[in-house]
Amino acid sequence: MQVLYKSTRGNGKETVTASEAILKGLASDGGLFVPTEIPKLPCDLADFANMEYKEVAYNVMKGFLADFSEEELKSCIEKAYDDKFDTKEIAALVKNDDAYFLELFHGATIAFKDMALSILPHLLTTSAKKNNVTNEIVILTATSGDTGKAALAGFADVPGTKIIVFYPKGGVSLIQEKQMLTQKGDNTFVVGIKGNFDQAQSGVKAIFGNKELEKELLVKGFQFSSANSINIGRLVPQVAYYVYAYSRLVKRGEIKCGDKINFVVPTGNFGNILAGFYAKQMGLPVNKFVCASNENKVLYDFFKSGKYDKNREFILTTSPSMDILISSNLERLIYRIAGNDVNKNKELMENLIKEGEYEITADMKKELDDFYGNYASEEETSKAIKDSFAKTGYVMDTHTAVAAAVYKKYKEETKDDTKTVIVSTASPYKFARAVMTSINAQYDKKSDFELLDELEIVSKVKQPRAIEEIQNAPIVHDTVCEVNEMESVVKKFLEK
Ligand SMILES: *Cc1c(COP(=O)(O)O)cnc(C)c1O
Repeated sequence: MQVLYKSTRGNGKETVTASEAILKGLASDGGLFVPTEIPKLPCDLADFANMEYKEVAYNVMKGFLADFSEEELKSCIEKAYDDKFDTKEIAALVKNDDAYFLELFHGATIAFKDMALSILPHLLTTSAKKNNVTNEIVILTATSGDTGKAALAGFADVPGTKIIVFYPKGGVSLIQEKQMLTQKGDNTFVVGIKGNFDQAQSGVKAIFGNKELEKELLVKGFQFSSANSINIGRLVPQVAYYVYAYSRLVKRGEIKCGDKINFVVPTGNFGNILAGFYAKQMGLPVNKFVCASNENKVLYDFFKSGKYDKNREFILTTSPSMDILISSNLERLIYRIAGNDVNKNKELMENLIKEGEYEITADMKKELDDFYGNYASEEETSKAIKDSFAKTGYVMDTHTAVAAAVYKKYKEETKDDTKTVIVSTASPYKFARAVMTSINAQYDKKSDFELLDELEIVSKVKQPRAIEEIQNAPIVHDTVCEVNEMESVVKKFLEK
């Protein structure tokens, strides 16, 4: 049966094709699109060991994107995973200490968001063609730092698209901010909001839900879509690297086909780890998904107690891309563990909007066995960077360090010695200050750009192209607005 998509909140009879779901981003009832079923891996696990990244991606994605022809999907994959990545492997698997690090930061903006956002514009423009859409597609995105730049880089100068990115002013690293503010491309717009990421995300959701605005813009030939991780065009490409990581372990003889492995995933919006969970549903042998949070440990509390509660202080940490109190993609898991019960899911999500919390039933909690949740404090995160460097010389970024610190806790607690892949989501160059001061507090005296040079010396890893590029690039975006001005800012941009 061909995979279609339905909303986690809507009437289950309303289904759309993959290309329609990609175009819409969010379902019209405010729910997220989920596949009517998870396709099985189309070939033997052993076969993947003989494929390069693009072939793995094709074989993993084709079942999910059933209305794409072979030629269409392969063309999207070819355009995405090319020499924008600085390694032929696309995703490099590096053995370090007691785990394997799946480095997903070899793309244009040196963070894992590139894995999906380098292909999304092509999936989206292909979807538009397939559905005879002639409107200009306006991508609206809220970012906690990395999505913004990766989306801007992906969409810049793609014909038939515009992209508007909102980020929390003061809530992203200096380098993340500079990366965004220097983005070229006449179709790109970057706005700092005086608020935090959750407010930016809620603001974007409100604009998407505004039917009046939708009509107004349609007359002018615009339609919104989302590049946020709620779009299945983001989620589906991410499933591929879980299968790829597994296949590399098989290829190198580290495991036998069929052996189970663990994945530790530094988590914010729950998109990355959910893609891993989908890979398991496809047939990938996985023991546990270790969900690693920073001090914004809503997910840890949720896995422990069954209660999701965002009513708490929002903490700015050194892993800002995980500073999130509403993990949007968790809704897809909630829907699933509720037995695909739309009403139950809707009830919980409405409670989240009204009260900022919800509690799952005991039966639903039993379905969470695939996951283990824990968190790392700022101190533990910093220590993970320092310890790794001291022991092996491997320098990891702060987000990856949250995962490494949580993996340590997991092992101590469970004594589980299953082979484990730590999903490494950013280059240390992107968070150089926090990384370098973890190694030695003395580095705090240096400027951000001096630290990049120091990092090169310490890590013996050459500065990536993305870093070289921003050193001298001019700032071309300077809009800052209040949270309640987001809609008017969007309108203003579209008048240009
Ligand atoms: C986005 C991001 C994460 C969190 O990923 P989710 O899919 O939102 O859970 C972790 N690390 C980095 C560097 C990121 O950019």
